[in-house]
Amino acid sequence: MRITFILYTTGRCNLRCRYCGGSFDPVKVPWRVKYDLSLLEDLVRGGDVIAYYGGEPLLNIRFIENVVGRFGDCRHIIQTNGLLLDRIPRWLLERLDAILVSLDGDRRITDRWRGRGVYDRVVGGVRRLRGMGFTGDIIARMAVTFESDIYRDVAHLLGLGPFDHVHWQLSMIWLDRRLWGGLWGWIESSYKPGLERLMELWVSELRRGRIIGIAPFQGILKRILEGGPIPPCGSGEDSFTVLTDGRVISCPIAVEEDWAWVGLLGTISRRELEGRRNNVGEPCRSCELLPICGSRCLYTHWERLWGDEGVEAICACSRHIIELVKKNLERIEEAAKISGLRMDDLLYPKYNNTVEIMP
Ligand code: SF4
Ligand code: SF4
Repeated sequence: MRITFILYTTGRCNLRCRYCGGSFDPVKVPWRVKYDLSLLEDLVRGGDVIAYYGGEPLLNIRFIENVVGRFGDCRHIIQTNGLLLDRIPRWLLERLDAILVSLDGDRRITDRWRGRGVYDRVVGGVRRLRGMGFTGDIIARMAVTFESDIYRDVAHLLGLGPFDHVHWQLSMIWLDRRLWGGLWGWIESSYKPGLERLMELWVSELRRGRIIGIAPFQGILKRILEGGPIPPCGSGEDSFTVLTDGRVISCPIAVEEDWAWVGLLGTISRRELEGRRNNVGEPCRSCELLPICGSRCLYTHWERLWGDEGVEAICACSRHIIELVKKNLERIEEAAKISGLRMDDLLYPKYNNTVEIMP
């Protein structure tokens, strides 16, 4: 079995985005890697995936270079805020399979949530990587808020050129609930109709033989046809995170939550990781959509930071996007047939590249 290891390179970040707040307290996540790399060799096998994460992973590029050098037969991925892409040397770039960069849409919305000048630096950095000949997968990762228009923002990023895929995550529960005043109005009058317009765009382009990289549609389609771990991001089943102090947890966000604890580097075995399965509670446990939705996200499932309302809102959005893909399944199959595409060509990701699938 293939495992995705998400390695924190540091707890430090060079941004303070409004939905996140920036660096971790170094007591919770140290800013330097404190374990010996040889401990990773007990767990990592050739063919696995290693994703560099933080904080901002490129603040500790030396660690990335060491790991890539040591685990040459793994796939390597960076999940970055995109400000320091110019630190990636050519030899390292050639070893990377995928780069995920954070952008929320156009310049106005990205800079409003992430900081002035961020959009231009990130887009410039990504274009530079393409100019250096990088042909791997570049994924734009959006945080979606009440100021997002999902159709406008996804279409903008896809239209820029350098991105192969766009993925998004709803920022519900990460923000103060009072900020997201008209939550249900936004879901009904903005998010759901925006998803429907995106589906129309996706199917019409498919009919012309073009697969546009809307990662949630492609990932949900994959889960409908092939199933997958619970939750869809694989946290705790086929994806494990190693913090800078050698703690191994299931979900990279849950740095101090008991439910995410797996063990300490040096005390756990590969076999234990491979045999691990998550439990989920209600309402997901008895939901007919669980094999596809996978409870959407373990963190929101267990932490319930917005109480019942947050669970209901996220569930409503999850149900809608799944039903949208299911409802369009015949049209998707027909469009693929017209274009001479195999269904397999539409499915994404081909391996767990840290795209969470369920927005
Ligand atoms: S649709 Fe709702 S209840 Fe069902 S698995 Fe997803 S989040 Fe849970
Ligand atoms: S989707 Fe949820 S469980 Fe998965 S990595 Fe993100 S926060 Fe963790």
